[in-house]
Amino acid sequence: MTEVYTIEDQRFRLAARIALEESALEVGWTASTALGNGDEVERERRRMLDRLLFAKGWMGLAWPVQYGGGGRSQREYAILAEEASRLGLSTWYNRIALGIVGPALLMFGSEAQKERFLRPALACDEIWCQGFSEPNAGSDLASLRTRAVVDGHEWRISGQKIWTTLGNEADYCFLLARTGSQPRHRGLTVLLVPMHQTGIEVRTIKQMNGEEEFCEVWFDEARAPRDAVLGEIDGGWTVTMSALTYERSLYLLQRQLRLRRLTDELIEGVDWLNADDAVKDALIDADIASTSLGLCMRDQIERLDRGEPVGVYGNASKVYWSESYQKLTRLAVDLAMAGLAPGREAWVKEHYSSLATSIYAGTNEIQRNIISEQALGMPR
Ligand SMILES: Cc1cc2nc3c(=O)[nH]c(=O)nc-3n(C[C@H](O)[C@H](O)[C@H](O)COP(=O)(O)OP(=O)(O)OC[C@H]3O[C@@H](n4cnc5c(N)ncnc54)[C@H](O)[C@@H]3O)c2cc1C
Repeated sequence: MTEVYTIEDQRFRLAARIALEESALEVGWTASTALGNGDEVERERRRMLDRLLFAKGWMGLAWPVQYGGGGRSQREYAILAEEASRLGLSTWYNRIALGIVGPALLMFGSEAQKERFLRPALACDEIWCQGFSEPNAGSDLASLRTRAVVDGHEWRISGQKIWTTLGNEADYCFLLARTGSQPRHRGLTVLLVPMHQTGIEVRTIKQMNGEEEFCEVWFDEARAPRDAVLGEIDGGWTVTMSALTYERSLYLLQRQLRLRRLTDELIEGVDWLNADDAVKDALIDADIASTSLGLCMRDQIERLDRGEPVGVYGNASKVYWSESYQKLTRLAVDLAMAGLAPGREAWVKEHYSSLATSIYAGTNEIQRNIISEQALGMPR
C-alpha cells in the first residue's frame, strides 16, 4: 500500500482545494452540520455547488470522459474527496446517483443508457433515488413485493418503498421490483423509473434529527418504458449486490473522512488539563480508529485502481466506521455535557445522525453475517 503522496498528487490536491473553495464561495455555501439534505437554502446551494463543480470538470472524476467524467484514477478521486471533506462536504448532493446508480450503469448499462443518464446525473440536472427497501423487506431484501409487469410497450409497477433517500426530489428511481415467477432473489429486476408521473406518490418522513431526508414512495400502476431494464430481466440481484458493494466502499469515503475531521476537532477542543485517564484513553482509541480506517480506505482505493473487487473489506470498514463514528460522537456529547469540550448542540446533532449509519447500506448485523460467511467461512 502506497502511503506517501507524490508531488503530482499534491499538485492535484492543491488544484482540487482551490476549485472547491472557489466554487463554495461562488454559490455562498459554508459547512453546516446538516448530514442529509439540510433546509431549502442549504439544498439549493449544495445543488448549485455540484453543478458548478461539474462545469469545472470535477464531478465523476474516475468516470469515463465520454460520459462527462474526468477519466482519472480512484486515487485522484480520493484526494478530491479528502479536500471536499476538509471543506465540510460529507456527501455530494446527488449522492445516490454518484455513489450507486452511476457505478451500476457503468457496469451493467447499455450504451444508450450510459449516454442518456450519466451526464445529467453528474451535472445534478437529474436527481436519483434508490427504491430497494419496503415496509416488510429491509434486511431481507429478496422478499420484496413491489411488482412490475409488461403491458405493451411499458412496464406497469405497483407496490410501496420506504426509507427512500431524496425520494421527494428525485427525477428517477433505481427500482428493484419483482418481475418473474421465480421465488426470492431469482425473480427480481432493476428498472430505471421516471418519478414525475401520476402513478407515483411520495411522502417525506421526519427524522429524530429534525431533517426530512427520506420518504415513503407508493407505485400505483406507475409506468416505465420497456427498455428501462438495467442488466437482465430477472437478473436484478446481481446488479443490486454490485451496487450495494459499491455503496459500502467508495460511496462512504467522504463520510469516513468526516470521522477523521471530527476526531481531530474533538481532540483539539478537549480540556486536557481537566480530563481524567479514562477520557484520555477514549480519545486515543478514537484517534487510532480514525487512522486505521484511513488506511483501510486507501487499501480499497488501490484495489479499485488495480481493477480488483473490494469485496468483504467494504463490509468490514462499513461496520468499523459506523461504530467508531457512534462511539466518537457519544464521547463528544458526554465531554461537552461535562464542560470538557465545546459545541454541545452540534455534537448532539452529529450523534443523532450517526445512529443511522449502522442501519443504512445494510445493517451492521447483516454485514457481520456476510463477513462471517464470506471471509471466515462460517456456516449460514
Ligand atoms: C439514513 C437512511 C437512509 C436510507 N436510504 C435508503 C434508500 O435510499 N433506499 C432504500 O431502499 N433504503 C434505504 N434505507 C433503508 C435501509 O436500507 C434499511 O433500513 C435496512 O436495510 C434495514 O432494513 P429494515 O429497516 O427493514 O430493518 P429490518 O430488516 O427489519 O431489521 C431490524 C433489525 O433486525 C436485524 N436483522 C434482520 N435480519 C437479520 C439477520 N438475518 N441476522 C441478524 N440480524 C438481523 C437488523 O440488523 C436490525 O437490527 C435507508 C436507511 C437509513 C437509516
